[in-house]
Amino acid sequence: DTQAIFQEVVDTGKPFFTYARPFEYPNQPEKGTTYWNWSLVPVKKGEEKLVSSLIFTLEDITEKIRAEKIIEQARELEEENTRKLKEAHFEVIQRQFAIDQHAIVGITDLDGNITYANSKFCDISKYSKEELIGSNHRIVNSGYHDKEFFRKMYETIQSGKTWYGEIRNKTKDGNFYWVASTIVPLKNNEGQIIQYISIRTDITKRVKAEEESRINESKFRTIFDQAPLGIGLLESRTGNFIQINPKYSEIIGYTQTEIETLNFQYITYPDDLQDDLKNMEKLISGEINFFNMEKRLIRKDKSIIWVNLTCVPLRMEGEELKYHIAILSDITDAKKASEQLKDYTQNLKMLNATKDKFFSIIAHDLRNPFYGILGLLDII
Ligand code: FAD
Repeated sequence: DTQAIFQEVVDTGKPFFTYARPFEYPNQPEKGTTYWNWSLVPVKKGEEKLVSSLIFTLEDITEKIRAEKIIEQARELEEENTRKLKEAHFEVIQRQFAIDQHAIVGITDLDGNITYANSKFCDISKYSKEELIGSNHRIVNSGYHDKEFFRKMYETIQSGKTWYGEIRNKTKDGNFYWVASTIVPLKNNEGQIIQYISIRTDITKRVKAEEESRINESKFRTIFDQAPLGIGLLESRTGNFIQINPKYSEIIGYTQTEIETLNFQYITYPDDLQDDLKNMEKLISGEINFFNMEKRLIRKDKSIIWVNLTCVPLRMEGEELKYHIAILSDITDAKKASEQLKDYTQNLKMLNATKDKFFSIIAHDLRNPFYGILGLLDII
């Protein structure tokens, strides 16, 4: 290669320059690649201007090239770092944006003084950003939780752990709201906690629904346990008993545990079963919304009682009927009284008929006393 370059300069008479020509010492590989500036200038003589000699200069610029390379690498690294930093910053902003869209976010210093509040925090608390920032988080304290609650919360986050909990807070205009809170201590490079971030979601509706359901449950439980009527919860398709109240148990003579193994078909008097099953079919198909009937039941002691029964479905919208409530009262005494009344009325009717006959005979006998006596004898 070098030979060829020399030859070309001699042949053409044109100088040759090259910058940072790499060269490796054949017997000193540890030196690595070195870089050289070459110049090969022909010196011409005579009228023909023939190349008589060559001025050959060599300059070792290895250090310069190496320094340039290091600077270039450093620049590339810096560019890469800046790009990564920009990306990371953008990612953080995007994440913060995503969290801000979903959650109520607040950042506090170590004393619980708010240093950042997103718009959801302002919306829910009804305080402006200016009012929140700089205030202690107790600005939204509702007085519901005791100091011990917050002492434990501070203890957790001060020890570097995340705290989860549900807090009832108060808005600026005095209403309450519930938040599911996650409070995370944020640390600096040295691992020291420098601030706390709280991320919350509004759970007011859920807590209220739970409260209502607890109240309803307790109301239902009171009615169920203390009702003067027998109340039973049954599986509609099978007729199996799930639960009965104390009055139901008293009427039928079975305990809750015993009834759980039975169905209503078992305790129904056979002659009344068909009517009951037909009513149940209509209830399940949705043809009727409830039914009421009088029927006989067989108590545990095998005695027969009359009950007045009302069945109401517990239907979930769009779902087939799974459960229904059976409400019953023991009408055996009333039935007996009504039977007795029937007999009494019958007797009364007969007596009335006798009385009518008697008076007609008397009336007749005023005209014919002998027939009257005979007639009376007939009756007696
Ligand atoms: P405090 O005087 O605050 O005392 C309650 C107990 O908390 C004290 O016994 C003490 O043990 C402990 N405590 C209070 N301040 C500190 C502290 N700086 N360092 C260590 N322990 C301390 N409160 C709310 O009512 N609703 C919120 O949503 C709410 N969110 C919070 C979010 C964060 C990130 C932080 C740090 C605090 C939050 N607090 C919140 C707590 C709030 O700062 C109050 O501590 C709390 O409202 C009770 O106020 P207080 O005046 O009744 O009792």
